[in-house]
Amino acid sequence: MVSGRGEGAGAPCIGVLALQGDFEAHARALREAGAEAVPVRLPAHLDGLAGLVIPGGESSTLLKLAARDGLFEALQGFARTMPVFGTCAGCILLARRVLRPEQESLDVLDATVERNAYGRQIDSAILKIPTVLPGGPLETVYIRAPRIAAIGPGVEVLAKRGGDPVLVRQGRLLAATFHPELSADRRVHRLFLDIAATAATEADRAA
Ligand code: GLN
Repeated sequence: MVSGRGEGAGAPCIGVLALQGDFEAHARALREAGAEAVPVRLPAHLDGLAGLVIPGGESSTLLKLAARDGLFEALQGFARTMPVFGTCAGCILLARRVLRPEQESLDVLDATVERNAYGRQIDSAILKIPTVLPGGPLETVYIRAPRIAAIGPGVEVLAKRGGDPVLVRQGRLLAATFHPELSADRRVHRLFLDIAATAATEADRAA
């Protein structure tokens, strides 16, 4: 069975937005989790993907770079219908509302996110935190991390740092305020591949 959504021929094909930031580490993590990973720099690169990772970096810079070639609109169109996993700056881009300062976003994840929300002393940290994912506590690496300040009713919290959600899921959207690609644990990337596989099966059924 061959499907146009990257499913069927073995490893799902997942795009990694490769404008700026640590996209190479995500591509490696996706391969380790069993996917094929390809860079996305232009709208046409989104064609046929089973999902997309928007990596960390600087969200305001990512927005500036995405303003070229109609990429922002293409990313928004993709994120409205397809599986997307945003980490750190990628989480900021997915959120419906961004604070400190307010900025534009793809406006798909029902959440309010504050940029650079942890004080200077603790803005970068490695913490082991509880998670509902099977397999026990999760190592989480934070680099000038945002804070998810509020979430809507359709958003499920998969892990928390203190009282703050740091890994959330809204259907086919997954967002982390930390950098799972910088830890050896591949549970979060595997979860995203499961989300992408389920979405591909549903798309096939609807076709
Ligand atoms: N501080 C960055 C921002 O506001 C995010 C940091 C990261 O992605 N590691 O966009």
